Formats: sequence, C-alpha cells, structure tokens
Amino acid sequence: MSAIALDRLSKTFGRSVALRDLTLDVAQGEFLTILGPSGSGKSTALSLISGLAQPSSGTIHLAGRDVTQLAPARRNIGLVFQSYALFPHLNLRDNVAFPLRVRKTPAADVTRRVDEIIGLLRLGGLEDRKPSQLSGGQQQRVALARALVFGPDILLLDEPMGALDKKLREDVQVELRRLHKRLGTTTILVTHDQEEALSLSDRILVLADGHAEQVGTPREVYTRPANAFVAGFLGTANQLRGRLRPRDAGGLELVVDGGHSLPLSLPLAPHAGAAGAEVVVIARPETARILPDDPSSPGIPGKIRDAIYLGTHARYHVETSFEEPLIVSSTDPRARHAPGDPVRIGWSPDDLWVLPTPASQP
Ligand code: ADP
Ligand code: MG
Repeated sequence: MSAIALDRLSKTFGRSVALRDLTLDVAQGEFLTILGPSGSGKSTALSLISGLAQPSSGTIHLAGRDVTQLAPARRNIGLVFQSYALFPHLNLRDNVAFPLRVRKTPAADVTRRVDEIIGLLRLGGLEDRKPSQLSGGQQQRVALARALVFGPDILLLDEPMGALDKKLREDVQVELRRLHKRLGTTTILVTHDQEEALSLSDRILVLADGHAEQVGTPREVYTRPANAFVAGFLGTANQLRGRLRPRDAGGLELVVDGGHSLPLSLPLAPHAGAAGAEVVVIARPETARILPDDPSSPGIPGKIRDAIYLGTHARYHVETSFEEPLIVSSTDPRARHAPGDPVRIGWSPDDLWVLPTPASQP
C-alpha cells in the first residue's frame, strides 16, 4: 500500500490551473522530490496533500485512507516551509514542544520526545535560545525538529533550504539525508534546485505548468529525460537535431547538419522509430569527448569559442555548423583548449539519448 496516493489531483484558481491531473504514488519510507521552476505548482501540490488547501478535483489517499475531505490536523503530517515560521517569543525547547502541547501529550512524554529530537538534530545546548539568537541553519533544524517531534507519518518540506546560503544548505541537506535514513519517514521535498533533487531523492517528479513531465529515479530523469524541458531543467543539455540512418555495421546513427554522423546505441533509442525519422538527441557536456581535428576522428568538427576554467573542470563553448554552440566539459587537468582551436566533438553511443518524439510517446 502506498503511503501517499494522488489520483488526478487538480487545483484551479479562477481560470488559471495551478495543478493539473497529478497522479502519483509514494511508497512507505520513500524520499520523493518535486522539482520544477517557480510557479509550476509545487507548493500547491504540498498544500493539497497537507490539507491546507482543497483540491478542485481528484482524491488523496494516505496509507489507503481517503483523506481528501479530512482536516489538516488529522492527517498526521509534519510540515516545514522556507520561512521557518518559528514562534519568535518562544525558546528553542518550547518551539519544538509546541505540536506535542497542542496534542495534549503528557508532560513526561513531552520532555522525553523533545530531548530525543533535539539530540537527533544536534541542537543540544541551545534549548533556551530564542529564534533570533540562532543562525539560519539552526533555525531550520528547529523547524525540522518541530515537524518530526510528534512522529508524523509523512514529512512535507517546501523549499526548506531556499533561504540558506550554499554552505548552510549543504549542511541541512546532509542532516536531512541522515534523518531520513534514521527515521524512514515518508518524505516529499519541494525544490527548484536540481542538484538538491538529484542528491537527496529516491525519485524525482518534474513539474512544469502544473503538469507532471516525468517521474523517475535521479539517474532516470537525468540520463533518460522524457522531453527537452526535463533535459534542460536537470543540468545542461546539448540538443542534437538530425535524421536516423542505418549503419553499415548494423544499428542506427544520427546524421546531423553537414553530414557528420554519431553512432547510437539502440537500447537508448527504444522509441526512435525507423531510419529516416527526424529526432532530437540529448548529449550532456560531461560525457563529450574532445578529439583532435582530424578527418579520421569521429564526431562533429568545430572550433573552441570560449574556454572557461572552473577548478574541478573546464567548460568549452564550441562553434559548429549548428545554430547553438555545443557545450562540453572536461575534467582532464592536462587538457588545455584555447579559443580558436579546431576540435572534433564526439559522444560514446551509450551517452546519447534519443528523445521520444510526441507521436511515439505512449
Ligand atoms: P511553485 O510552488 O511551484 O512556485 P505554486 O504552487 O505556488 O508554484 O503556484 C502555482 C500557480 O498557481 C502559480 O501560477 C500561482 O500564481 C498560482 N497560485 C498559487 N496560489 C494561488 C492563490 N492562492 N491564488 C491564485 N493563484 C495562486
Ligand atoms: Mg512554492
């Protein structure tokens, strides 16, 4: 039985559709991330699950029970928002204890549970401080402690790291991963940060315009995006347009502008259709091979336009006969390509993903 089951869940505001027919099953103990740009319906999805908003249509089941009409307080869900929403006049201990007091938990249990969760979130020694006397990262850990102290069945996190700087965000991410391992609470995290989604999640749901574009493991959505939007939202994606042609050696290759060809791996083009079809192939910068400019080299000839040194790797913009420059990266510390250098850019067949064309989508 799924911990969370959404069936064709929709929410409209007047004539605008915030969420459209979202169907999703989240397994017990799963960590699922909803990833999408601002305004794509992420917060709307969470507020429907938590009961803070009512769906226009569709149903919500939690652990098999229809909760679509149930009050938020009776869904046993822990919530954390970007604005920590801590009570400014209460100290850390009383902030964390708040949900237990609301539930009229006996005092001895309150003390025990609050101590336990404060220990788990490494907030010991700060119990008497007011929120204003805590750092942003500490405040967010208090908000997490408060959301977990009553043992929720489900934890919903709406951009909880959004207000933190990069270093603190990484700290809270590590904390979240550790907590989830330890407690196994079914969790939905909302974020627009693709790295955060890739690093934390069992599965990712990609939303755009209130519509689910794809659901899959981080590896699936990154290496086998359902469409160009998903490919571009999760990192950088070169889109190679071309026509499929049978290879002499068997299989298919992509023939691009100028007649150059790139061999494809058939398992990565399951829906590619027949030879002759016009397709878009997704090629990531980090899997590109930068080869010498030699007519015997496979790949697409071009010229380095920009070379950007980034410490861990270098990124190059390569001018070819395509409209857009190819973006390729290299982690080879000895490779130094300078603007103007002629090169050839190739990809191993295993790194080229043929996008499903609309007609071939199930
Ligand atoms: P996200 O969290 O992905 O940024 P939201 O779920 O907040 O997106 O919003 C999705 C869409 O619904 C947006 O176009 C937003 O303007 C609209 N929306 C959200 N809440 C309301 C509301 N209370 N009234 C009117 N429109 C809303
Ligand atoms: Mg939001």
